[in-house]
Amino acid sequence: MSAAPDEATTAVPAPTLADLPLRDDLVGQVPYGAPQLDVPVRLNVNENPYPPSPRVRSQMADAVAQAAKTINRYPDREAWALRTDLAAYLGYGLGPANIWPANGSNEALTHLLLAFGGPGRTVMSLGPTYSMYPEYARDTHTAYVVEPRRDDYGLDADQVVAAAERHRPDVIMLANPNNPTGTRTPVAVLADICERVDALVVVDEAYQEFTEYPEDSALALLPSHPRLIVARTMSKAFALAGGRLGYLAATPAIVDACRIVRLPYHLSATTQAVARVALANAPELLGQVARLRAQIQQLQHWLRAQGLTVPQSEANFCLFGPFDDPHAVWQGLLDQGVLVRETGPAGFLRVCAGTPADMDAFKTALLTVLPEGASRELEGGAR
Ligand SMILES: *Cc1c(COP(=O)(O)O)cnc(C)c1O
Repeated sequence: MSAAPDEATTAVPAPTLADLPLRDDLVGQVPYGAPQLDVPVRLNVNENPYPPSPRVRSQMADAVAQAAKTINRYPDREAWALRTDLAAYLGYGLGPANIWPANGSNEALTHLLLAFGGPGRTVMSLGPTYSMYPEYARDTHTAYVVEPRRDDYGLDADQVVAAAERHRPDVIMLANPNNPTGTRTPVAVLADICERVDALVVVDEAYQEFTEYPEDSALALLPSHPRLIVARTMSKAFALAGGRLGYLAATPAIVDACRIVRLPYHLSATTQAVARVALANAPELLGQVARLRAQIQQLQHWLRAQGLTVPQSEANFCLFGPFDDPHAVWQGLLDQGVLVRETGPAGFLRVCAGTPADMDAFKTALLTVLPEGASRELEGGAR
């Protein structure tokens, strides 16, 4: 059958990236991602440590089996049933036309920049903040500018508006609570910013369910601010990181813009089915949120009692430091089976809430790597 079998099987050396016509702006870049290490205590990517119950798991399995019956067909391209469920979960009078779901809010936010960013356009954020924002910008050929947050990592409306006047961004991205600092800006400040800028304003509420008052959300501003987009994810509080489902809430015209740039059938039938089971079981999946919040609040007190600096976090993680050699502390923890994240301002590390056993393991490991003195004197002391 093959005309020239000898030639067809002649192997040539595999090229390296340097041999290929890679886009100039990607030369030297590496894929995003924290190390995925198989260690007992993983506190590095802000996941919910509690898997779904056997009851919910079997519902997910049934839903996948049901979807498999028609897996020869493309899924509902508009994911209408899922969008209806997501709107019902959010409340605030939202309907399916206000919701744009994708494979994680990372993809939904990339859609937003594909539609509203691009060559000659600018996205602005306030740092330190989520390290994926510059990557969405790079991938969509959008210029990225980052202005500093206040010293306490909060946001000040006057400061954000002044920065917007300087940079004239098309899109402003604000994580609230912010990652990696965990700090939260009041919704009234966000309203003030929306009032005073022309740009689209994205409020990324990936950790909203962990805050003290989750219902105090920028979603409340949507009816009066049609250029506002609120991003949510099922990866964190909802304990569905492996399901890959995140979404935007916005006015229907913004959703329509995302529909133009998405790849067809971007959400698989199984993704849609599993996410709908998760939403139908929201009370159970979100059932550990209060406990995780309590864990991280306690941990913040404990870390401060060890003499460390910890910005007040409203998310399920917090920063701690500063260390002269944060990598040595990270490695010291890892050597004891505890994985945290090297991210944030210079000298700091980030840890997220785990089970009580995870928290104990983290504290025990940290005490062995903290510089002598600081820890001993203050141990158990309330500060
Ligand atoms: C985790 C996270 C996301 C989204 O993650 P997905 O898993 O893609 O939904 C978005 N924004 C921030 C700030 C995050 O920390």
